[in-house]
Amino acid sequence: MTSATQPLGTPNNLEAFWMPFTANRSFKQNPRMIARAEGMFYYTPEGKPVMDGTAGLWCCNAGHARKPIIQAIQAQAEELDFAPSFQFGHPKVFAAAARIASLAPGDLDHVFFAGSGSEAADTALKIALAYWNVTGKGSKTRLIGRERGYHGVGFGGISVGGMVNNRKFFGSLLAGTDHLPHTYDREKQAFSKGEPDYGAHFADDLDRIVALHDGSTIAAVIVEPMAGSTGGLPAPKGYLKRLRELCDKHGILLIFDEVITGFGRLGYAFAAERYGVIPDMITFAKGVTSGTVPMGGVIVRKHIYDAFMNGPDNAIELFHGYTYSGHPLAAAACLATLDVYREEGLFERAREMEPAWADALMTLKGEPNVVDIRQVGIVGAIDLAPRADGVGKRAFEAMDRLFREEGLMVRTAADTIAFSPPLIITESQIGELVDKLRRGIRAVAA
Ligand code: PMP
Repeated sequence: MTSATQPLGTPNNLEAFWMPFTANRSFKQNPRMIARAEGMFYYTPEGKPVMDGTAGLWCCNAGHARKPIIQAIQAQAEELDFAPSFQFGHPKVFAAAARIASLAPGDLDHVFFAGSGSEAADTALKIALAYWNVTGKGSKTRLIGRERGYHGVGFGGISVGGMVNNRKFFGSLLAGTDHLPHTYDREKQAFSKGEPDYGAHFADDLDRIVALHDGSTIAAVIVEPMAGSTGGLPAPKGYLKRLRELCDKHGILLIFDEVITGFGRLGYAFAAERYGVIPDMITFAKGVTSGTVPMGGVIVRKHIYDAFMNGPDNAIELFHGYTYSGHPLAAAACLATLDVYREEGLFERAREMEPAWADALMTLKGEPNVVDIRQVGIVGAIDLAPRADGVGKRAFEAMDRLFREEGLMVRTAADTIAFSPPLIITESQIGELVDKLRRGIRAVAA
């Protein structure tokens, strides 16, 4: 049997857990363990502080161990630990939906809850298909994603997603998907602050896809306003507006996957507001509870919700949902988290801090092997040139060294180091983070 109290590193302590998206064998040889967190910092089991450069996995926007959130979760567990999500309701889930809807722009007025970002993405795709069915256009079944898109790991998400490793082992995937090109062109965009000037025209590829399949067969387009998991690629200026116009022209629903960009990461409640573009649906997760309790969901526009409400009064409108849709602990965590965001003005704070954040990151230009730096909101990404011999990844080595030697947590994807600290980060901590990065990048080059 394994025991949590066994010394770390003993084989049967680490073997049972098959870690997600992790090189299990090398991790278990030399683990990166985290035992505790508070504010901007994680702590190793030995008590060494590690600055959280990633808000966990892009989720702990309010920082760690926030008392009001913890207390709300504790109180909720005592009052109502669970309530069936089908056919019964509890007050906090309605309150949470109303609060989230109040933060969304335009008539994005109704919220369907799920338990994660992957479930949110699959839910949005299913709502799109069902919407065309209930409005008498059931031939609209095709789902369009993007190269270098990430929409979680459900079959819907990996089918519209554009990451080869997430797709190639899993058979034929969902039928009837297609992909827009990604928007990254290093030659024309390298070292841009914020949204690159070049690249709005990548949206025009939707015309090609429509010419190929016809708009009458296409249900929805799903995109991230900033592609996070594939290296922090901000949408080029004007790109999302263009996509909205083309979707309108061809009668296609537009879904923004805001699992990362929601709840302040780009300085607004949702990126849709930053870009002045109203999609038909927004998916969210992560920051909605500042990572404390799993929760995800989809915000839909009024016309979508209304389309489902036209049947007989006692008929189920959508045959979809999860046991943990709107879990009481998640709903309580969500309400407390949104209070913290509002009381501390964390979205505005992110917006105000963005220029200093961008300037600090760009000081890393010229460091060894740095071939691009991207930034948008409180997100940063650095591309390191691949090794000439192709053995190992500098970005992975940098991540490992930064954790062990510098006490900084970053994320790595292929040749990119990405970071997205909690929105409570101070200017002096930004300086500290960049100093650590600089030393880490130099150490990997040495
Ligand atoms: N969509 C996007 C844009 C994401 O970044 C992620 C997670 N990084 C997901 C969906 C999936 O979320 P989860 O891991 O909670 O299923």
